[in-house]
Amino acid sequence: MRLVLLGPPGAGKGTQAGRLVAKHAIPQLSTGDMLRAAVAEGAPLGAQAKEIMNRGELVPDELVIDLIDQRIGEPECARGFILDGFPRTIAQARALDVLLAERRMNLDAVIELVVDEDALLARVENRNRETLKAGGVVRADDNPDSLKIRLKAYRAQTAPVSAYYAERGALKQVDGMASIDEVTAAIDGAVGVRA
Ligand code: AMP
Repeated sequence: MRLVLLGPPGAGKGTQAGRLVAKHAIPQLSTGDMLRAAVAEGAPLGAQAKEIMNRGELVPDELVIDLIDQRIGEPECARGFILDGFPRTIAQARALDVLLAERRMNLDAVIELVVDEDALLARVENRNRETLKAGGVVRADDNPDSLKIRLKAYRAQTAPVSAYYAERGALKQVDGMASIDEVTAAIDGAVGVRA
């Protein structure tokens, strides 16, 4: 199964992707995680991305398209994958179409978690509290200023990606304000899996 998860920061993409990974035994390809790993390793790609990410802006399309191009060709992705945080621009969506067509692959569904923007800041603050409680480290871009910029980037650059897939009949919208279990059930329904 090949899925794309769309939704603004704090919509719950990561949580739902984790559940889909467990259920379908396919990897989650999160460009945000890949970029954070590159930053942590001190890789050249990380150096290029770090400041942009901390500000809450999007890194150049070519960077993330290359990351996804490398990953979807790996054997671990042969049975499918969940794209989390990619594509985030129309250029990335078009590039993904090309990458998939080259490999004779297609997407089974694009799931958009639709959320009320006013709730997102509270959700991210809650995520931070939970992370700190568990002894983890809060993301550098999970602060109110970066979050505002990330939401602006989402509205301007990623919201059109929903329309792109809707026009192709691939978009399934799910109420991301429901409980985690209800969202999981709605996603299962959208991809044709019975609970
Ligand atoms: P995320 O973990 O998905 O919220 O991503 C964290 C940050 O990584 C974003 O705010 C961007 O700076 C960068 N990023 C992740 N995925 C992409 C993408 N597909 N296109 C551009 N920038 C991205």
